Amino acid sequence: MAHSNEDTMCRAVEMARLALTTSAYASEWHRSAAEVTAQTWETIPFLDKERLIASVTDEDPFGGRLSVSCSELAWIFAAPGPVYMPYTAGDMDRVAAAYGAALGSCGLGDEDIVDQTLLYNWVIAASMVDRGLRSLGCAVVPGGPGGTEQHADHIRRSGITGIVAMPSFLEHLLEVLGDRPHRLRKAVIMGELRDADAKTRIEERYGVWAREFYGVGDVGAVAYECALGQGMHLRRDLLIEFVDPATGGIKEPAKGDPAEIVVTDFARRAMPIIRLRSGDLIDELITDPCACGNPAPRIPRIIGRANDITKVRGMFIIPQLVTRTLGQFGIEDEHCIVIDRTEGRDLIEVLIVGAHRGNVPVVAAAVSDALRIRCDVRFVDSLPSGSGLLRDRRAFQNQ
Ligand SMILES: [Zn+2]
Repeated sequence: MAHSNEDTMCRAVEMARLALTTSAYASEWHRSAAEVTAQTWETIPFLDKERLIASVTDEDPFGGRLSVSCSELAWIFAAPGPVYMPYTAGDMDRVAAAYGAALGSCGLGDEDIVDQTLLYNWVIAASMVDRGLRSLGCAVVPGGPGGTEQHADHIRRSGITGIVAMPSFLEHLLEVLGDRPHRLRKAVIMGELRDADAKTRIEERYGVWAREFYGVGDVGAVAYECALGQGMHLRRDLLIEFVDPATGGIKEPAKGDPAEIVVTDFARRAMPIIRLRSGDLIDELITDPCACGNPAPRIPRIIGRANDITKVRGMFIIPQLVTRTLGQFGIEDEHCIVIDRTEGRDLIEVLIVGAHRGNVPVVAAAVSDALRIRCDVRFVDSLPSGSGLLRDRRAFQNQ
C-alpha cells in the first residue's frame, strides 16, 4: 500500500497530470489526464534510473520530461548517466525547505557551525544541504569531500560543532582526529549503505551523536531521524510506496522479505518525478507512534540495493554483508559470490583472490551467519568471468 493520506494522493495525481504534459511521460503512459486518478494510480508505469538515462538524447538533455519553458530554469544539476536535473527557483526553494526540516529533525540548529562534506560540484546534494543548513540558521563551513587532514584541522581550529557526511568518511575523519581536542558533537550521516552498528560505534567510540538521513538523488530528502534516533520518519509531503523488487507488485516490507522504496515527488515542477523506483530496500516499517510526536511511520536503515540482490533458497543475498564480514577477518582482497545450481540445489561459494590463509571454516561460518544461509569460502588465483560482486550462474542454465 502507499503511505499516504487523501491530501498526498491528491497532490500526487496533480503532479502526474503535470507530467503527462511532457512528451516522454505521455508516450510511456498511454492515457489521458482524466484517466490519472487515485483509483488508477497503481497502473501508472514506474520510472527508474535506466529509463531516465535512456530518454536523454543529444537534442534533448531532459529526455522529453521538461514541463516548463527554458526561461523558467534556475539550476541544472548533472547526475551520472548523464541525467540532467532542471529546477525552477521555486522547485529549489521547496526541495531546500525539505532538507532544512530533515537536518533540523536530526538535531542541527542555529547554535551550530557545520562542516558540509558532500560534493559541491555538478550534483545536487551539497547545494541542497547547504541551503537547508542556512534555513536553520547554522553557520556553514563548505568543506566538501576528501582532504581528511584539512577537515580535521578546521574542525579543531574553527569550533565546528556539527558535520554532514557519509558514514565511512565520518568514521575515517574521527579516527584521524584521534585525541586532538575539538567541539564536534553532532553528525548527520547519509548517502551510502551503512552497517547496522555504525551509529552506535560513532557515538560510543568518538562521542559524536549521529543521526541518519535518507535521500534519493532525484527527489531529495525522503526520510530522516528525530532526536530519539529510533528509525527515520517518512516525509509526509511525498507519496511513498513499497514494492516487491522482483515483480513490482505493491507489498509491505518484512524481515527476510525486503521491499523497494518508490517515490513520487511534489517539489520538482520543472521535471516531474513520478513513481521513481529508488532501488533501495528496507525490511521493516515501524508504525508504532514515536515519542517525539511526529506521527509519520519510520524505516530502519536501508539494507541493500535491489539491483545487486538475488534470492537463494528463499533468502535475499546481500553482497555487502559478505564484504563486511570478510573485512572483520582482515580480508580486503578482491572477491565475489558465485551462486550455482547442482542437482536442483543452489550452492553459494565466496571466492577470494590470494594465497590460502586464516581459518577458512571459521570465516565460512561467519559469512554463513551474516547471510543466514550456508556457504563455502575458497581462495583462488583469479575470479571467474563476469562483473560485480554477485555472479549468478543459475540464470544461464535456464536458457
Ligand atoms: Zn521520532
